[in-house]
Amino acid sequence: MNKRLVIHVMVMLITIIVGGYIARQLNSGVERTAMEGKAFSTTYAGFNKFASDIQWMLFINYAGSIKSVNKDTAPIIYKKLKAIVANDPGFAKAYEMGALMLSVEEPEKALEILEIGFGNKALSSNYKIPLYAGLILTHYFPDKETNKTLSRAEKYSKVAVARSSGGEKGAIGQLIYVRAKKIKNDGTYTFSKDVVISVTSDKQARIIALFDEWRATQEKSMAMNSTNSMPADFSPVGFDNFNKINYTEMILPLIQSAKQSESENKDVIDTITLIRNEMFKGRHLCDKCIFSYGPGEKFCSSCGINVQVYGICPKCSSVVKGRFCSSCGTDAVPHKAEQVRHE
Ligand SMILES: [Zn+2]
Ligand SMILES: [Zn+2]
Repeated sequence: MNKRLVIHVMVMLITIIVGGYIARQLNSGVERTAMEGKAFSTTYAGFNKFASDIQWMLFINYAGSIKSVNKDTAPIIYKKLKAIVANDPGFAKAYEMGALMLSVEEPEKALEILEIGFGNKALSSNYKIPLYAGLILTHYFPDKETNKTLSRAEKYSKVAVARSSGGEKGAIGQLIYVRAKKIKNDGTYTFSKDVVISVTSDKQARIIALFDEWRATQEKSMAMNSTNSMPADFSPVGFDNFNKINYTEMILPLIQSAKQSESENKDVIDTITLIRNEMFKGRHLCDKCIFSYGPGEKFCSSCGINVQVYGICPKCSSVVKGRFCSSCGTDAVPHKAEQVRHE
């Protein structure tokens, strides 16, 4: 045996012994912290992320091994999750998936975990965490119908809408859901100084919630346009998405269906009239069914009633496509001016 080989074997042995010792230390540390729900306290550079990855794998294994989330398994899931996010506070998936697993059996603990992620700066562009927080409050909390819980949910839902680029539909849907519940609880809605309307149906509350959001964005938009000193690319958090949300297209099918299904409810009909006059000014909608109709049409194609004709030549009654009538050459602009006055 030569000298080099002896050294080589010794180095290998030491590596195996030391490596095995460290591995045992790490392993017991991971398991211990997974059980206690605390961050792995021993300091190994960059180890926490690694530990949370292992914990996550163990967690996925565990989640696959249990039949359901119940009184026995929920506390274990909760502890494992807390250990994972303590080691890796930026691990979005752990908050999201964990909270969904716990939401039915332990909604308060599910929310607690989401709140840890919600306060994390590294996740400040994650919209799912506040969205799930709002969903858990409004669907699984025992006092989900109270204004206190709804206000908590509203806070999260607003953040979810602001964070989701392009106004994610689920986030807007959740915000409208919360706002509608609050409006229904309040029982009234103030359209203007002199017009206060009773809110007596869920559909009506939902329509009003959408209208109220739309009106708020109109006001913001006007405020921004009137500020000359604002740079062109100025978009503070919460402001940048409001242009992308098409409230009018969201509200129209609701109004149409409410006009039919709740035609006996005076509060609903009054609400529809008020909203139609403010939100759909200049839009040609059938009075009876609120479907839009095109230029030159005499009857509503949806319900068959007579509609007020627009967009035709004052001389020959052909449908006008531009400034001048393509059938007789008459200038159609005076007619357009008359049409505006007519409304
Ligand atoms: Zn119609
Ligand atoms: Zn003509």
